[in-house]
Amino acid sequence: MKNQQQYPFKTNEMNIHNVKPKQTAFKFDRENLEIEEWQEQMKNQVDTLEELEKYINVTDEERDAIRNTTAKWGTTPYFASLMDREDPNDPIRKQVVPSKYEKENRYGIENYLIFKENRSGKEDRPDTIARQYRDRIAFTVVNKCGIYCRHCFRKELVVDETLDLHFNVDEGLDWIREHKEIREVLVTGGDPLLLTDDKIEYIIQKLRENPHIEMIRFGSRLPVVLPQRVTSGLKRVLGGYHKVPIWLNTQCNHAKEITELTARAVWDLLTSGVNVGNQAVLMKGINDDEKSFQELHQTLLNIRIRPYYVFYLEPAPGIDHFRTPVEKGAELIRDTIRGHTSGLAQPMYVIATNIGKIPLMPDYYIQEKNEKEYILKNHRGETTTLPNIPQ
Ligand SMILES: *Cc1c(COP(=O)(O)O)cnc(C)c1O
Ligand code: SF4
Repeated sequence: MKNQQQYPFKTNEMNIHNVKPKQTAFKFDRENLEIEEWQEQMKNQVDTLEELEKYINVTDEERDAIRNTTAKWGTTPYFASLMDREDPNDPIRKQVVPSKYEKENRYGIENYLIFKENRSGKEDRPDTIARQYRDRIAFTVVNKCGIYCRHCFRKELVVDETLDLHFNVDEGLDWIREHKEIREVLVTGGDPLLLTDDKIEYIIQKLRENPHIEMIRFGSRLPVVLPQRVTSGLKRVLGGYHKVPIWLNTQCNHAKEITELTARAVWDLLTSGVNVGNQAVLMKGINDDEKSFQELHQTLLNIRIRPYYVFYLEPAPGIDHFRTPVEKGAELIRDTIRGHTSGLAQPMYVIATNIGKIPLMPDYYIQEKNEKEYILKNHRGETTTLPNIPQ
């Protein structure tokens, strides 16, 4: 098998490539992990009312919203099993089950993705390439996801499917080959880890053939919503020592999403050589209270995921019901993270805009500045001074 020698260690797990998938009931016990269970999970996505009712007691309001929605919705059975059966305000349930508020739109921008990803701009690029920076681009390779997040800002592409883009991966790879100023490629979607191992391997190999590509980053929610995807086959494809490293950012928005299976999947990625970070989305009623926010970041570190970003909810249409005041994220970091818990737990709070990501960290810490000194404030409200050094 190609690249086998690059795999840094041997495990006693079976090599999945030559084994036929077995039809089995879902087992969430990793010891009994069945071959390609993740594909079974995807085939059995929970995306009908009848299926959903096996996991939760659907409320009348939820039932109406499901009947009235034209947008795609659904989740892996695994993630569905983490929902609270009785509580419609359960943080996982709210990310999965459609809401009547999705029909409302006060702050969202129509055709948001075209605007946000500069797809109507001057530079002629394939549909797969979104560009905001000189040295790095987002490369959209698939529009399927493990779950269809109700708060997704790429809704038009993956949830509503009203944006018809043309995903020709080879065309995108050609564009990348010709653009020598690109140092880093963010492979995204949809969820790129839903591609087969072979396709992922192909993309990575093609990217690594370019001398100008210095790193590859994957954006994938699967370590959280479908940790079964981290198979020995995937570890082989993503892993190993290479000059061009692989980073992976996942999305976890609440500590309840983190299970032993996700912890193992992250361990498997890390020990294969893949760095794992998190990009959370700040959402009203899900993680905008102090306890949830702190717990999320502490639990991420407990399972070795480094918090990278917390995003302010983007102005995409139909997601106003998740929107918080802009200051909220900065306040939560001030009141629950900085000084209150490990500095490693601190994400950067940003809004992703059409002109790039912009930090939203107000200067809470600089109380006063004059010609002689700064007066700095800590998390307990105490102050100290620092000399102001002239240029
Ligand atoms: C988010 C994003 C990036 C990566 O930004 P970082 O700050 O490096 O994480 C690159 N390109 C596009 C189009 C993006 O949306
Ligand atoms: S996994 Fe990502 S792209 Fe897919 S629906 Fe959720 S937020 Fe959107």
